[in-house]
Amino acid sequence: MKNKNKNFDSKERATNIQTKGNNAKSLNKVNNGVFVFTKSLTVGELAKELNVNASDIIKKLFLQKKLVTINQYLDDDTIGELCLEFGYDFKKEEIINAEDFEKATIEDKEEDLEERPPVVTVMGHVDHGKTTLIDAIRNSNLVAAEVGGISQEIGAYQKTINGHKITFIDTPGHEAFSAMRSRGASVTDIVVLIVAADDGVMPQTIEAIDHAKAANAPIIVAINKMDVPGANPDRVLNQLLEHNIVTESYGGDVLSVEISAKKKQGIDELLDAILLQAEMLELKANPKRYAIGTVLEAELDKGEGPKATLLVQNGTLFNGDYVVVGTTYGKIRRMTNEYRQIMKEALPGTPCSVIGLSEVPLAGDRFMAFPTEKDAKDIAEKRRLKKVNEERAQNNGVTSLDDLYSKINEGQLTQINIVLKTDSTGSAEAVKASLEKLNNDQVKVNVIRSAAGAITESDILLASASGAIIYGFNVRPSAIIRKKAEEEKIEIRLHRIIYALIEEMQDAIKGKMKKEQVENVLGQAEVRNVFKVSKVGAIAGCMVIDGLIRNTSSCRVLRDGAIIYEGRIDSLKRFKDDAKEVKQGFECGIKIENFNDVHEGDIIEAYEKVEKE
Ligand code: GDP
Repeated sequence: MKNKNKNFDSKERATNIQTKGNNAKSLNKVNNGVFVFTKSLTVGELAKELNVNASDIIKKLFLQKKLVTINQYLDDDTIGELCLEFGYDFKKEEIINAEDFEKATIEDKEEDLEERPPVVTVMGHVDHGKTTLIDAIRNSNLVAAEVGGISQEIGAYQKTINGHKITFIDTPGHEAFSAMRSRGASVTDIVVLIVAADDGVMPQTIEAIDHAKAANAPIIVAINKMDVPGANPDRVLNQLLEHNIVTESYGGDVLSVEISAKKKQGIDELLDAILLQAEMLELKANPKRYAIGTVLEAELDKGEGPKATLLVQNGTLFNGDYVVVGTTYGKIRRMTNEYRQIMKEALPGTPCSVIGLSEVPLAGDRFMAFPTEKDAKDIAEKRRLKKVNEERAQNNGVTSLDDLYSKINEGQLTQINIVLKTDSTGSAEAVKASLEKLNNDQVKVNVIRSAAGAITESDILLASASGAIIYGFNVRPSAIIRKKAEEEKIEIRLHRIIYALIEEMQDAIKGKMKKEQVENVLGQAEVRNVFKVSKVGAIAGCMVIDGLIRNTSSCRVLRDGAIIYEGRIDSLKRFKDDAKEVKQGFECGIKIENFNDVHEGDIIEAYEKVEKE
């Protein structure tokens, strides 16, 4: 890309948000016969702005059978109508605050705009040659200095063809593409749709077409595997017609190129087609402003901390810039290209890998650079608070199954939030997947956290903030956590069988309450010593740390919050004597029926079952 402004002083960059709405107060004004307003106005305020008598406004509205007073607020339509009545044109302007930078329409002066590289994504059915094509493009026309033998590091790279740059993004699959889109990020200008000439249009080809259409990105068809004897490009073009992809040979405007990714044939023609398409799109950006763009991928690097691949979409990103990404901010400490070479600046349409952010952002997060650290910090903080509030707003006040039954029976609830803790990552995924399959038209099951490990205070805080029920699968809360949950009025449901857990949720969704065997936890004892007694087995020398232990109770053994055994108490002793029950603060000896693998530090939890509606 030609960049005549490359040497502009980075301090003179335009700031990001240029919507005039930033200064809302001064904005209600008449300008060249156009009344520009940003918020609703009272009759009195409008009269003043339009330089008319309030009584005239009231009269006009009265004739339309609308009775208003001078202090009454008018809706946008009425303000518009009144403007026209009094001979003004009108325009409503949205107020965009800097923290909502995703929503801002950025206005650049025509003379600041320059050509920017198109951003291209290759999509197609599995095995049609996506990876091979991406490799072929990457390795074509390689300038030695560009590589220096280092393999590419990030999932985005640029090629320069006849002095024009093209940016390629290696989306790992359709899921990544739609995940980004679902987060509101649409970075792709052109989709290269790869279709194998010997296989034709397949399900994922159609999916790719849908994605491209939804993202409003023009398609270039690359008919691949032309070297294969059975290659039939006409059949492919015909099949594409059925999906409204009308290529040039059929009188349409979709470009198509025949290639062999494997034999590296037709690659130059494809690149030319991309440049031609880009020219038609007239892609432009203003390098003389603070950068705005999207996170393509991010990870936590063990040595370097949060590391992100950013795509600059407008403006120029400089090393040392302060950026807000998602709800976090940072100072760019190092910026590198796909070959790990240091970059001082990244122009519009350029991908770069950066370090210096304080947290790992999400792919699809938008970023923006700001003039000072204070700006970036303040805006990140505002965005964080906004997000917390949004999360709170998701709180539907359902923190127990009882709430759930009643809300569903009243036909109110549409979403159930669940925090899920399990004994292993595998079971976390399995239970989450099964729960989410329960979604129906009325109710959405939303697992907001699923992880392996004991139920912790942070789970309770999350459940409380977002109105969630906690499900423990093969894990148990400690006595402290149980108390905390009671205080916060969060219900913890515990299960050992997936089927039972799912059935319970299914019933809840149907608004059915069942007579159930509920557990009444009596108390917990901590194992302090283990005595092996011949012919008897292991006796756990315990301290009752919560509630009480009864000699007739059922019990379970917990190690690090996970259940390792479930059974009954065989015998309970205070010193040498049998005891019926032992209360909190007292020592006791416990023998568990058929279980001798008790360890120091284990928790023995005693419970009884009672029936409850
Ligand atoms: P992807 O799943 O779309 O990424 O497809 P790959 O790039 O992994 O290719 C799938 C298979 O097709 C591999 O065995 C490639 O070697 C082969 N392949 C890709 N392009 C061509 C081509 O142009 N001609 C031939 N004959 N085989 C190809």
